[in-house]
Amino acid sequence: MLAFPRLVARRRTSHMNITGGCLCRAVRYSISAAPILTRTCWCRVCQYIGAGSATVNACFPAAALEVSGELREYHLVAASGNPMQRRFCPQCGTHLFTGTTARPHLVFVRVGSLDDPELGKPAMTIWTSSAPSWACFDERIPKVERQPPPVG
Ligand SMILES: [Zn+2]
Ligand SMILES: [Zn+2]
Repeated sequence: MLAFPRLVARRRTSHMNITGGCLCRAVRYSISAAPILTRTCWCRVCQYIGAGSATVNACFPAAALEVSGELREYHLVAASGNPMQRRFCPQCGTHLFTGTTARPHLVFVRVGSLDDPELGKPAMTIWTSSAPSWACFDERIPKVERQPPPVG
């Protein structure tokens, strides 16, 4: 009997269903996996998307992501040298996903688009070398000056 609550807890994590979408709700998504990692990024491109601040991104297995609604893509080469696709809602402009052809099995989700942004608590700050002098870093988590090694 005592084992029952533990079993329920385990099932909940293995059948995780994280939901989110854009500001105007034309795009909605669900993710059937826990985040592999979450981090704050101060690269120069993220400062455009984050309106001057860093972006917060959670990495998931791309196969776990299901999207409904139309997305538009913007392609560019990131500071890391990787070709990136940045996907956003064409109606409200909310940035939702980033991927690179170098690692097609992973998708990075903009944490602000999660229905529960608490799930996206960052574990690392990256690209601190590109941040302006007035940037505030969370001293409780590790900082990396540039791009850390790939997550998988
Ligand atoms: Zn939208
Ligand atoms: Zn960035």
